[in-house]
Amino acid sequence: MQALRWHGVKDVRMEQIEEPAALKGKVKIKVEWCGICGSDLHEYAAGPIFIPKDAPHPLTQEQAPIVMGHEFSGQIVEVGEGVSRFKAGDRVVVEPIYACGQCVACKQGKYNLCEKMGFLGLAGGGGGFSEYVAADEHMVHKIPDSVSFEQGALVEPSAVALYAVRQSQFKVGDRAVVFGAGPIGLLVIEALKASGASEIYAVELSPERRAKAEELGAVGLNPAEGDVVDDIRRLTNGGADVSYEVTGVPVVLTQAIQATKLSGQIMIVSIFEKEAPIHPNLIVMQERNIAGIIGYRDVFPAVISLMEQGYFSAEKLITKRIALKDVVSEGFETLMKEKSQVKILVSPNL
Ligand SMILES: [Zn+2]
Ligand SMILES: [Zn+2]
Repeated sequence: MQALRWHGVKDVRMEQIEEPAALKGKVKIKVEWCGICGSDLHEYAAGPIFIPKDAPHPLTQEQAPIVMGHEFSGQIVEVGEGVSRFKAGDRVVVEPIYACGQCVACKQGKYNLCEKMGFLGLAGGGGGFSEYVAADEHMVHKIPDSVSFEQGALVEPSAVALYAVRQSQFKVGDRAVVFGAGPIGLLVIEALKASGASEIYAVELSPERRAKAEELGAVGLNPAEGDVVDDIRRLTNGGADVSYEVTGVPVVLTQAIQATKLSGQIMIVSIFEKEAPIHPNLIVMQERNIAGIIGYRDVFPAVISLMEQGYFSAEKLITKRIALKDVVSEGFETLMKEKSQVKILVSPNL
């Protein structure tokens, strides 16, 4: 089958590889759509970050070249021995987290914090930028007929956003600020709407992304015009209840803290490439608190239900659909150039 494999920085190749088999406990999925994630771009442009390059990943025993793609939907074509919850024909998405099941985090059920944690599509196990994936039964979730395959490809990134809001101290009726209106920031706006936010502000430099945030129901604020912290404090009567940091830009962290009310919370959703210095008194003097999340756990079913109600709408978030063979030129390269793109979906069937 055709698959996109990461070999090194700026060296990803479309290759002919063997189809995965529906071994014991696994289901074989024919991929319909796979989204391109920010982490795919990082691996392509500046990796490896999550991809095991010099030694095999402890849970998959695989190392580069690695098939990429972890945000995908598809249809089961075959089930392996012992699989009880699925049958051929089921429409599914994969929750792409590998965890060891034995470390302290795993024993607490916090499988996303596993000391050996890896992602299918980044650490081995195949990936959605190919024709077929064989995944362990426990990582697979059914999607109902009312959720399209395109919508299904958005479950994984939407899970990050929903989990970020659920893990924060946000309460129904609260005012929230989202710093950064890229794909995950926009999905955080959706998660906040689903959670009953009374006001949502989106701080974003790009006019296209700000417009998208407004289309989703947030109030867009341009940090290049005036003092965005003052604006938020005025608009929210003293600061947001919770601010979500989704830029990974060091100076923005300080803005996010200053835009948060006393005893409020700053939830960090981004991965930072470098240190972000902050003045501790910004936390101390207002008894604010800072938290962070990585990935998600136990939220896929909730995301799928919310999608049935119209949240995280594919129509509003998917800006381009391309064929697998064009994933680098029309996908990775386009996303790095065009801020107007939100989610690009890739299909091996086009
Ligand atoms: Zn991702
Ligand atoms: Zn573990």
